[in-house]
Amino acid sequence: MKYKWKINDLEEYIKLLKLKLYNLLGIKDINKIDTDTLINILNNINDEETSYNVKILLADLNQAHILLGEICPYDFLEYYLYGDLDTSDNYNRKSLDIIKEHVSILDKYPFAKDDLLKARRILKYNTGLPLDTLFSMKQCNLSNDDILELTHDFYKQFDSYFFKKFMGVFKYRKDIVSFKNYDGGGTLGTCYELLCASTSYIQILRDHNIGDVTTTIHEFMHATSFSINPNHLYDPNKDFLSEFDTTFINLLATDYISQNLKTEQIYANSFNALVDHYNSINSAYILDLIKDEDITSNKDLSSFIKSHEANLEIILHYIKMDLPFYLFIYSLPFIFAVELYNIYKTDKDKAIYLLKKIINANCNSKEEYYQMMLDFGLIPGRHLNTYAVDINKKVKSKIKLNIDGVKMT
Ligand SMILES: [Zn+2]
Repeated sequence: MKYKWKINDLEEYIKLLKLKLYNLLGIKDINKIDTDTLINILNNINDEETSYNVKILLADLNQAHILLGEICPYDFLEYYLYGDLDTSDNYNRKSLDIIKEHVSILDKYPFAKDDLLKARRILKYNTGLPLDTLFSMKQCNLSNDDILELTHDFYKQFDSYFFKKFMGVFKYRKDIVSFKNYDGGGTLGTCYELLCASTSYIQILRDHNIGDVTTTIHEFMHATSFSINPNHLYDPNKDFLSEFDTTFINLLATDYISQNLKTEQIYANSFNALVDHYNSINSAYILDLIKDEDITSNKDLSSFIKSHEANLEIILHYIKMDLPFYLFIYSLPFIFAVELYNIYKTDKDKAIYLLKKIINANCNSKEEYYQMMLDFGLIPGRHLNTYAVDINKKVKSKIKLNIDGVKMT
């Protein structure tokens, strides 16, 4: 990792990327080309290497623009990059049309379907509150430096190998981390990995509760894993579990923060995550049921969904926040992460060994990667119940949290 580019240098970086992109596409000035022609050029790239390089350049360009607080002029090309993951046009359409388009979500990765459904059953019995209810957390007065110090101390006690790799990123924190204030109901963190610059940037939009700390620890794990193996994020056979390592770190960071700041408030986040995962998997499950039904009106749709103790609003909410994306990028990794977390609690060395193996793995197919996780003894659902029961106890008996009744809209 060179960390040549600071956040302040990004405008220069964007110029460089544009030049590279024009060279690859054989065009002189992208502004003189209309969208259709551009997409046509992209679709006619025949060789795999050029296609891959164009995708990386476009992803980097997009992320660099977002970091500068701008809209990337090429953001319409996202659909070229992510194919069916773009659901941005879902907002103004009829419920039934939207639902029908998404009924095959669970078949996207058939090898994961049974494991997701098993997790759904376990979570169903362990959330136990109205599913549009979320806990809120108290505000706390941590400075940005306090957050960075806690992040540093967490990685220091975590493991010597990962601490060394983490420090390789953390030492550039002044150049690559930006904290901003955000009062939108929950911390928002993003790690932008710019492959062409071999650099990660971390942006934390602070909500001023302890969730700011776990989010920062999470984003640093993305950057650390990227410094160990950039392919961990960019290998198309691994991307559906790309939040596995970070979700695992979240589980450990939650315990660490709770012990060090002497508060169990942080478990409110863990409970909210359980509700969130249940709702995303359950929405996919209901869509899967609808697949075999002959539903022709919105009224029939509503009553079918109600008969399965589900809620159309919640399903639409998850579709609007990119259901296939959310399901396979967050919920599936979460189910695996709980298993590694369980190993960590009884055999720390084994868990660290597996984590290294997983980050460094290069796989020939998604199935191969999935099977590797199973072969490592990470069996989805095996310890999910124990984990969920534990979080429930912490949230419901040990602490008195505010129930906000936040409606998902
Ligand atoms: Zn993440």
